[in-house]
Amino acid sequence: GFKMGIVGLPNVGKSTLFNALTRTAAAQAANFPFCTIEPNVGEVAVPDARLDTLAGIAKSKEIIPTRMTFVDIAGLVKGASKGEGLGNQFLANIREVDAIAHVLRCFEDGDVTHVEGRVDPVADAETIETELMLADLESIEKRRANLVRKLKGNDKEAAQQDRLLAAAQAMLEEGKPARLVEVDAEDARAWRMLQLLTTKPVLYVCNVAEDESATGNAHSAAVAEMAASQGNAHVIISARIEEEISQLDAEEAEMFLSEMGLEEPGLDRLIRAGYELLQLETYFTVGPKEARAWTIRRGTPAPQAAGVIHGDFEKGFIRAETVAYDDYVAFNGETGARDAGKLRAEGKSYVVKDGDVLHFLFNA
Ligand code: GDP
Repeated sequence: GFKMGIVGLPNVGKSTLFNALTRTAAAQAANFPFCTIEPNVGEVAVPDARLDTLAGIAKSKEIIPTRMTFVDIAGLVKGASKGEGLGNQFLANIREVDAIAHVLRCFEDGDVTHVEGRVDPVADAETIETELMLADLESIEKRRANLVRKLKGNDKEAAQQDRLLAAAQAMLEEGKPARLVEVDAEDARAWRMLQLLTTKPVLYVCNVAEDESATGNAHSAAVAEMAASQGNAHVIISARIEEEISQLDAEEAEMFLSEMGLEEPGLDRLIRAGYELLQLETYFTVGPKEARAWTIRRGTPAPQAAGVIHGDFEKGFIRAETVAYDDYVAFNGETGARDAGKLRAEGKSYVVKDGDVLHFLFNA
């Protein structure tokens, strides 16, 4: 599955947000209990109204949403790259995530101490980014030193790694994150495998005061501008509000939201923004037993998409039977879609589209 790491300076609202995320009714209503893997790791159901529609048409007994994992990565402070706070231990946690949800304090509250004694989310973002850049530089230097012997032996893989590490190093030495390095398609995989912290896409989470969650404020506007200039994303959320919503049942939550002038919980927006940022898409498998959603990266060919369900599906892939979501709904299910000629047989090179309802045929 895909993993988002929640980072931020102390006292910005990370734990509040993490608890809200993982206790929310949406996470509970899903047919798997919210699952706490470790105290700071949780899986959340990805809200998707299409799944309920499909289940309704197919009269599926069970509805199983797709999931996203959130990891609360505490301990990031100024000096983390030099071992302050939890230091390197927590940097290792960041290496493993697909994207970073960076919580920024955008609320004013004299009762909640800010580590720097002022509310300035753009400066906070820079503080954290600087730590990540320093950590990357340090690990690059170590890794390049370790590659020296292999390079003498004309190891091709080592040469590729060293070339990519050198490009990242040059960028970081200019004071810029490694994500700004332009990487050729043939290097993309090796580049990802380097797991540099500043190549992870960032979603800035502006934690605003309770009465600002619909509108944002001047702080969140400054973050929005910064995010846009970096090619990163942002969402506006009040962690306190989300915490309250997470304790309500679905009906109460809806009333509460409309009183606040909100259309949906901020958490839904957060998860969707994570989806966008990671370029993720959803396909469905639908039958009388269950309707289920699955997550893939945009541009995934059918065999690899099948592999998300089971490795054997990928290995023995023969073909996929496909109905687009809109057709499935318009023709009231698979039989209707088939009769209307909307069920397609697709081969190995078919690129799965968001909303596809799929059956895989495979050799066991
Ligand atoms: P963390 O250290 O980043 O995990 O921060 P916490 O989630 O523990 O929050 C730190 C303090 O800020 C707690 O007392 C929270 O109740 C408070 N807090 C979090 N979000 C908000 C908010 O939106 N508004 C206000 N006024 N306080 C908040």
